[in-house]
Amino acid sequence: MSHDSSPAAPSSPPVILRFAVPSPLRRLFDYLPPVGMSAAAAAALPPGIRIAVPFGPRTLVGVLVSVHAQSSVPSEKLKQTLHCIDDTPLVPPALLDLFLWAAQYYQHPPGDALQSMLPALLRQDRPAARAPRRVWRLSDAGRELPEEALRRAPRQREIVDYLSEHGELDKLSLIETEMSVAALNALISAGLVCTHDETDTRAAAPVGGPTQSREAPLALNERQRVAVHTVVAALGGFGCFLLDGVTGSGKTEVYLQIIEAVLRDGKQALVLVPEISLTPQTIGRFRRRFQCRIAVLHSGLTDTERLQAWLDARDGHARIIIGTRSALFTPMAQPGVLIVDEEHDSSFKQQDGLRYSARDLAVVRGRREELCVVLGSATPSLESLHNVACGRYTHLLLTERAGQAAQPALHLVDTTQELVQEGFSGPLLSRMQAHLQAGNQVLVFLNRRGFAPTLQCADCGWVSECAHCDARMTLHRTTPHLRCHHCDARRPVDRHCPQCKSRNLQALGLGTERLQAWLQALYPQTRVLRIDRDTTRRKNELDVLLNEVHQGGPCVLIGTQMLAKGHHFPRVTLVGVLDADAGLFSADFRGQEHTAQLLMQVAGRSGREGMPGEVLIQTRHAAHPTLQTLVRDGYGHFARLLLQERQLAGMPPCTALALIRAESEDYRAPESFLALVRQMAETLTGQASGHGVTLMGPLPSPMEKRAGKFRAQLQISAPQRPALQQLLTQLCPQVESLREARTVRWSVDVDPQDML
Ligand code: ADP
Ligand code: ZN
Ligand code: ZN
Repeated sequence: MSHDSSPAAPSSPPVILRFAVPSPLRRLFDYLPPVGMSAAAAAALPPGIRIAVPFGPRTLVGVLVSVHAQSSVPSEKLKQTLHCIDDTPLVPPALLDLFLWAAQYYQHPPGDALQSMLPALLRQDRPAARAPRRVWRLSDAGRELPEEALRRAPRQREIVDYLSEHGELDKLSLIETEMSVAALNALISAGLVCTHDETDTRAAAPVGGPTQSREAPLALNERQRVAVHTVVAALGGFGCFLLDGVTGSGKTEVYLQIIEAVLRDGKQALVLVPEISLTPQTIGRFRRRFQCRIAVLHSGLTDTERLQAWLDARDGHARIIIGTRSALFTPMAQPGVLIVDEEHDSSFKQQDGLRYSARDLAVVRGRREELCVVLGSATPSLESLHNVACGRYTHLLLTERAGQAAQPALHLVDTTQELVQEGFSGPLLSRMQAHLQAGNQVLVFLNRRGFAPTLQCADCGWVSECAHCDARMTLHRTTPHLRCHHCDARRPVDRHCPQCKSRNLQALGLGTERLQAWLQALYPQTRVLRIDRDTTRRKNELDVLLNEVHQGGPCVLIGTQMLAKGHHFPRVTLVGVLDADAGLFSADFRGQEHTAQLLMQVAGRSGREGMPGEVLIQTRHAAHPTLQTLVRDGYGHFARLLLQERQLAGMPPCTALALIRAESEDYRAPESFLALVRQMAETLTGQASGHGVTLMGPLPSPMEKRAGKFRAQLQISAPQRPALQQLLTQLCPQVESLREARTVRWSVDVDPQDML
């Protein structure tokens, strides 16, 4: 604890400053004002400023949450703060509230929650200053350049055109637009472009009018028009909308036109996209449409750039903010709308630290800041569909593909009834042949990278297990080795069986490498490309592969779920799903939902430009009701049935669920720790009459051993969220102070995304 030594108690009634301090404890910390600050000045300190505070032997950056006249800590034990870092609130009040709400809801230490979501440079004891921002503008000579100049230097012409349209170019836009640095330097040498280093933030305000469109909006179809009008009519207050439209139905166009209305109103738009869709193509679409400053928060930003983007958004210079999960916490001067694209995507849920769902918190933020929230997906999560059914969200359906493209037809192939070679059934092979002969592209989906998931001894049955996990090691052949996909352990491929010394070792099962080798031998004249984590590890490798696909020549594209999302493959007319079964019987209660979403997303890659698409799904369980419903009646119908099942089974989203997980190298420790937690929970629910709280476990996790740790979990569920919240809020601080809590690593996951 920090409050060990005690400065002299002040004589006038004390002013107590309450802070979020980065510490693993689930509480706020009280301090006295800095030496020499008057009580009146201290009482007027605004929440949201940062103040340096002593914490044990260290000095930490605390964020002021509130000012009080009393503390539960005796005043002689309170320490004085050191010095103010900001004079005006760094974190706007609405956002500070959101952090505290999230820390409470997800049962995470508030100081840690807040700090982990701030740009790294703001976690330090130094002012939130903008780095000078380097921009390039046309010189007088550049502005007077005639249209036909620079014909021979198209890359320079491109920059001049950009500058005459946008006024200025900064480093980020230079990278995103992929314009040439050499061409820019040539223009500077020729005196056509000049460099400015801007420190004044006002000078960085958008140059063009914020509402000016560059590329004209499309004429909306009827469904799109209804969607845009419904949301635009509700702007200015809280409202939540589920934009439910198949892939290619024009959701993005709907977002763009909503944003246009928001910008026209002088407001800002925040757009969250899954990790995988934050591509230059996505950003390009926004840039082509709008002339205003767009802040893009991606993982490649330096700390300085990230801070810059954060401040630009906070101060209203950036009118559109696009980013992944953590961008939800970007402050905005004039917030206008929150958009979450592909809202079902699991990357919106953080899996460590503050285990928040950016989608769910977007709705919380929308309610607090009176904003409209648009959640879009071709395969909405059951959570959002449930909220529609309860009347909390407005359902906006886009039923048709926009433009000319028709919906692909889905067919099941029963692999128990067909001859299967290296994973391919006869019907799939013959359709592939036909589509390739017609000059089209084929996509083959298998969610397993590597050559084969197992190496097995044909004589004694030994399999290549990971020494650290309850899992098998995957055989890789391109660079031969065995690798565990759970802990990344690697070792050389065995030459003979470690158990019986037999040399008769077999690669068992299929991975994308194996498919590629086999198909390339089958179609020696056709390009067979593979897109998975192994072929796209290095920078640009993905772009090179995608470029080749976009050239449009016939090819087979083999891929994992990397391929299932976000990309448009206009020349793909056939999609083959090799194995639909893995997720159907998963230990995870969301297995079926995720499988169906993945299948529909993969299916959505095909036939996007007027060419009819066809999807063949191979399964050993063709009679499985999930698959039948999905193929026959579509995702919407399937999701409704699944929701009914969840209702009957008492699973989310029909009940509130939390998991307490524990792991340790000692195989007994997690379960005995969780047994204690369960006892404490039982005592608490006994007192509060329980409100229907159900405890299950401790149970070993579905994969009990991973990366050398044994893992167990305790499930806590309740029919209503408040009962669960109440229990957790009492339970977690008690658990935190348990001596046994130090023998394990433990965590709470509220609304867990998976049970693994
Ligand atoms: P989604 O985001 O639902 O996948 P997009 O907005 O990307 O759909 O639209 C798919 C394709 O249809 C794009 O090429 C887009 O330009 C086109 N499109 C969208 N809306 C219209 C429209 N109203 N008229 C014509 N084409 C449209
Ligand atoms: Zn053997
Ligand atoms: Zn492993």
